[in-house]
Amino acid sequence: MSSSILLRNIILSGSASDILIRKGRIEKTGPAGFCGRWELAGDVEIMDCTGKVAVPGFVNMHTHAGMALMRGIGEDMGFGDWLDHIWEVEKDIDEQTVYVATKVACLEMIRTGTTTFSDQYWYSPAARRAAREMGIRIASGYVVLDLSNPAEADRQREQCLRWYEQDRQAAAEDGSIYQFAFHAVYSVSEQMMLWINNFALSHGAGLHIHLSETKKEVEDCKALHHGLSPVEYLDSLGILGPHIRAAHTLWLSPRDVEILGSRGVTCIHNINSNAKLSSGYRFLYKELRDAGANVCIGTDGCASSNNLDMLEAMKTAALFQKAWREDPSAMPLDELLRAGTLNGAGALGLDTGRLEEGAIADISIVDTDNSFFLSPAPFLANFIYAAHSDCIDSLICNGRFVMRHREIEGERQVLDEARTLLSATK
Ligand SMILES: [Zn+2]
Repeated sequence: MSSSILLRNIILSGSASDILIRKGRIEKTGPAGFCGRWELAGDVEIMDCTGKVAVPGFVNMHTHAGMALMRGIGEDMGFGDWLDHIWEVEKDIDEQTVYVATKVACLEMIRTGTTTFSDQYWYSPAARRAAREMGIRIASGYVVLDLSNPAEADRQREQCLRWYEQDRQAAAEDGSIYQFAFHAVYSVSEQMMLWINNFALSHGAGLHIHLSETKKEVEDCKALHHGLSPVEYLDSLGILGPHIRAAHTLWLSPRDVEILGSRGVTCIHNINSNAKLSSGYRFLYKELRDAGANVCIGTDGCASSNNLDMLEAMKTAALFQKAWREDPSAMPLDELLRAGTLNGAGALGLDTGRLEEGAIADISIVDTDNSFFLSPAPFLANFIYAAHSDCIDSLICNGRFVMRHREIEGERQVLDEARTLLSATK
């Protein structure tokens, strides 16, 4: 495998360019043909990208990759019944299933242009191993969900401590990200939320949570905690800060928005999951952005949103914003792309999500030789609103090809492994 890559004659920010990638980073960019022979000395793989456009790899900020084999198992159910059903199915989940399912999820994310995903699921060391083998970047770590059962809390604390060193070490070695997680305010005891938050802060790690996903979650929290919403409740515990990566944040009061903004929380919008489970759709994008929150896009897991396609998630997010607000300017294209790339990278402390010299080389190469890109409209309009993710021809993560001309090395084996596992557990 070549240590360097030259993307020749690719459209970058509207003009024909060359992109030279070395040691995992974008070393140089310039007009097409700018790289002289002397600069290409050594082992350089050259890809002719005529007719193709470079965009940053997507950062999917909320997934449960280990659920990739549970797709479609809870259709036409509301959030409460769906979650009960999922928890029942998950009683049988083991490390091998998470490993295989995460590889399947990675296949799908590679095909749809994602180079980084922030995961929340059981057996994070197995998920990390899967992502490393597939060549894309995971942010993951121990998840706490004790259902206020003290014995379960003890077991999870002990397991978290036991796994932490090894999993963190693996993250340091492969350049992935270590973070902690707790499921939600309704499924984790106050003591455990405080414990895992302190543990994350003392190790300089982020904390990935579900927050204010449903109306019921907010009502139940108010009933239990002297009228405090989930956001107010977590803030009263001192948990909210820039290290919090909060999925959903859908049912918010003006005061909640103010708190999330002032604490610099990352708020992750997962519209397909919210709409499909009938949880709601009035995500307060503009309000959160203006208050100072870092708004990102995620897909959620395959058991609720059914796929991990960020292009679809971005399009749906924008359509819902425009529709419910009756405002066509509610989510402009450039902001939408940032929410799907740069904002997530910022939340995870990664220098990616931008195609500039020095940045980590996470690059999606989009083929425009099809009907979607014939019109003279701006590229982003056709990319997000017209095209499908199969226009993504090749994908580079960390300066390495993980897909070349729609071919992913080892894809057949991953699918076969998943089929074997599923037939053994029938
Ligand atoms: Zn979720």
